[in-house]
Formats: sequence, C-alpha cells, structure tokens
Amino acid sequence: MQITSSKELLAVDGGTPVRSTLLPYGRQSIEEDDIQSVVDVLRSDWLTTGPKVGEFEEAFAARVGAKYAVSFSSGTAALHGAAFAAGLKPGDEAITTPMTFAATANCVLYQGATPIFADVSADTLNLDPEKLAARITARTRAIIAVDYAGHPADLDAILELGARHGLVVIEDACHSLGAEYKGRRVGSVAHMSVFSFHPVKHVATGEGGMVTTDRADFAESLRRFRNHGISSDARQRQAEGQWFYEMVLLGFNYRLTDIACALGLSQLKKLETNVARRREIAARYTRAFRSLSCVIIPSVRSNVNPAWHLYPVRMNPAQLNTDRAQVFRALRAENIGVNVHYIPVHLHPYYRDRFGYRGGEYPVAETAYEQLISLPMFHGMSDQDADNVIAAVTKLCEHYRKA
Ligand SMILES: *Cc1c(COP(=O)(O)O)cnc(C)c1O
Repeated sequence: MQITSSKELLAVDGGTPVRSTLLPYGRQSIEEDDIQSVVDVLRSDWLTTGPKVGEFEEAFAARVGAKYAVSFSSGTAALHGAAFAAGLKPGDEAITTPMTFAATANCVLYQGATPIFADVSADTLNLDPEKLAARITARTRAIIAVDYAGHPADLDAILELGARHGLVVIEDACHSLGAEYKGRRVGSVAHMSVFSFHPVKHVATGEGGMVTTDRADFAESLRRFRNHGISSDARQRQAEGQWFYEMVLLGFNYRLTDIACALGLSQLKKLETNVARRREIAARYTRAFRSLSCVIIPSVRSNVNPAWHLYPVRMNPAQLNTDRAQVFRALRAENIGVNVHYIPVHLHPYYRDRFGYRGGEYPVAETAYEQLISLPMFHGMSDQDADNVIAAVTKLCEHYRKA
C-alpha cells in the first residue's frame, strides 16, 4: 500500500488518481461453470418453468433453512408477491423504513395500501423498534423490515411487536443473503423473507428474486400470484395430461425463467465463499478506517453476522472542512466508484407529492443520508482493489481535514 501525504494533489484538483480504471461499487462474478449451466438450459426442452425452477427453489430453501422458496422475476416482483400474500389491500397500512430502495415501500402501493415510515436506529440504520411501535394503528397489517447493507434488522423485537398486534412481518433481505441473526440464517426468521438476484447482490441471475417462508398458505398464494393467479403451472398440467386450469385470483406473470434459475443454482453454490470474501474485505476496511477520524465505520451488533452487501461509511462532519458531495466527487475522480445508499424514500418527489412529506420527518435517516458514502464492496474485489479504496479515502481525509 502506498504511503500518502497531505501534500499529495487530489485527482479532483488535477493530481494522479489512485488507480487508472474505475472500481465499481458492486458487480457480479460469472465463471465458466455459471456460463456452462446456462448453455445447458439453452440446449434443453425448457426455457421457462422447467425443472431448474424447482431445483433452484429447493436448493435456496435448504440454504436459508426455510420450508418453502418461491422464485420471482425480480426482487421487486417478490416484494409485490409478499405484500399480496400478507393480505395488504386498500385501507391497510404497512410500516417500513425510509432507509431503503424505493421498491420496499412501492410494493405496499401496488396493493393499494399505504406505506407508513418509522425512523431508524442511529447505529445500524435499521428500523428502530420503539419508533416502529409508535406507528402501529388499527389499520396496520404488515411490517417490512430491511437488513440495511446486509446487517439483519432487530428481528426478535419486530416479530414480538408483530405477534402482539397480529401483523405479518416481511423481511426485505435483498442485502442480507448469507447473513445470520442470533445464529439463525436470514430467510428462516421472518414470516416471509424477500431476496433479489440483481447483479450487485450476492447471487446474480440478471433479474430475479425469491420469497422464503415456513407457511404453506403463503407459499401457495405466492405461487399463484406470480403465475396470473392460476392454480397449477404448465409443467404440472403436462405431467398430469390435463388441459384444465383455473384462474382463481388476479395475478401477474412474475415467473423466473429456467435460464435464470440455472444461473442462480450455479451461483448459489458459491454463496458461502462469496460472503466469506465480503467479510474479509469489510474487515480490511474496518482495520484501516477505525483510526481515521473523518470516517465513521458501519457498526455491527454483537448478535449478528452481516452479509456485507454494502460497506457504507459516514463522513464525519466534525472532522471535515467540506461536505459529502465534494468527498463523493473527489473519490470518483480517484476512480473509486462510490455510491450513496439511500436517498430516504419519503424524500423522493413521488412520495413528497403524494403524501406531503417535506423533509424533517425522520431525522435519524435524513442526517445519515447527508453523510453516507458506499465504498466498493463485491466478492470479486482483490486486496489491491480494497487497498486502492483505503488509499483514496486516507488521501482525502488528510486533504479535507478540519484545521
Ligand atoms: C435490490 C433491492 C430491491 C429490488 O430488487 P430488484 O431485484 O432490483 O427488483 C429491493 N429492496 C432492496 C433493499 C434492494 O436492495
């Protein structure tokens, strides 16, 4: 690793960047065996809803320790399915966190119900159970917790609230495949857990998603919902030699293809290694940044083992003579592909216009947002890549240090 000095010119000011090519904040790793498994499907009889769908679902359920897994065409479709299975309908409310991707709240709107936000805890930026409890009304039907950055939410406290008020607890686990909560695997804890297979997530299928659950009624609803509301699938009918089918509810075509499921199966085999690699990179960052006062590292509670979808640091305004926007620009100029997760959902124009949010409603999330920068984090990163990130952040901290 290079030793940097405060005299070193930043790339944003015309200096030499710490690396010559852009390091993205996240990306997939596709190897020969992944490619071969897709090619095999392309030569087979089934491109969609064939044997790979069931194989992927079974392997996934086994991996997370759930009874059922139902695949969807995206994480967003899977969230929509979970909102449907939870019974959300017009007049109902579902409480979620503002510190997430818009899809977490949008799925409530798809069902004609109303998303209600509750502020987050300052350490993990996950739903604060006390703030959550204060938002429960007679109209509340579900809670959608998010495992921000891959750190599991306060699931026991949330499940206890859910039990007390008769609510369905959905975990948006799109960040946390491979994480553990009190020794239990994410995907086996909440009533339904939702995953995404977008290329920046732990398992990539292009687009894709999954809902896991232990409840047979939820699994049945989810399967119908993703297939037009039809009560059996094409392969089942062919196997049974039947032409008859019935549409029993208004569903969608949210099916995941056999092509994608073959890729997912192949990727799932590497999940353990990939999560382990993400934990190594996180440990490397944490070691380097613990002593750097301009950066606040993500906190990890003692009862979880995060999956590190993201490594979001907060730029400490007390130690810097500039703002997050400038640090962001300067890191990009160093060819470090940083990002910001997230603009709190209620601050998006659609939510402001529709629900009248003006900012200031969820101060913990809003303050964090002003300071957050997601550093590159993906399992294909080399130690050298991580050291480039550390060098760039260190260089900037020295440059912008408050006198
Ligand atoms: C990625 C993501 C989603 C959406 O998943 P897609 O597969 O992109 O539709 C939803 N919620 C969170 C928290 C995510 O990170």
